[in-house]
Amino acid sequence: MRLILFGPPGVGKGTQAKILSGELGIVHIASGDILRSAIANGTELGKKAKTFMDRGELVPDDVVIGIIQDRLKEPDAKKGFILDGFPRTLPQAEALDKVFERAGIAVNKVVSLEVDRRVLLQRLTSRRVCRKCGSIFNLSVDEVEDSRCPKCGGELYQRDDDREETIRRRFDVYLNQTKPVKDFYARKKLLVEVDGIGEIMEVTKRLNEALKR
Ligand code: AMP
Repeated sequence: MRLILFGPPGVGKGTQAKILSGELGIVHIASGDILRSAIANGTELGKKAKTFMDRGELVPDDVVIGIIQDRLKEPDAKKGFILDGFPRTLPQAEALDKVFERAGIAVNKVVSLEVDRRVLLQRLTSRRVCRKCGSIFNLSVDEVEDSRCPKCGGELYQRDDDREETIRRRFDVYLNQTKPVKDFYARKKLLVEVDGIGEIMEVTKRLNEALKR
């Protein structure tokens, strides 16, 4: 199974991709996670990416395409993968097509999670991430004590780009640069839309049904 999970910031791509990756036994590849880990490790790539990410802008296509191309070559991606946060522009989608063409493979499905903007803003401002295990929590839903991860005890933090001003910029970027990618896959008849509102497990169930379609 080669899957692309698509949707605006805060729609639940990361949360759902982690669950599906476990259920389907395929690797979860999140461009945002790779970039954040480069920042945490202080690499050149991280330094370059940080300026864009802090402003809520996209990291340049050539940088992100290179990262994903390399990641897809790793042995664990051979069995299949879930791409989360990539492609985010038309040039990225076209570059991915070429990578697949050269490898003689194709995407099975592009699932677009749908949630309205008001809910997204609320979810993003109350989102916290565990520095240790990467689990994602929502302060208005999950019981979290002393900013500690209920799963592993790691420190929970708020992503720098989850502040309201930056979130608004990320929404604009999504509408202008990322949404056209949805039409790109709709034209290829690969797109399925799934309602992303509701309990996490409910959404996972809808996703699993959509994958069978
Ligand atoms: P995410 O974790 O997917 O919300 O991504 C966080 C930030 O990383 C985005 O706001 C961008 O600055 C950057 N980023 C992640 N994926 C991409 C991508 N495919 N293209 C460009 N920038 C990206």
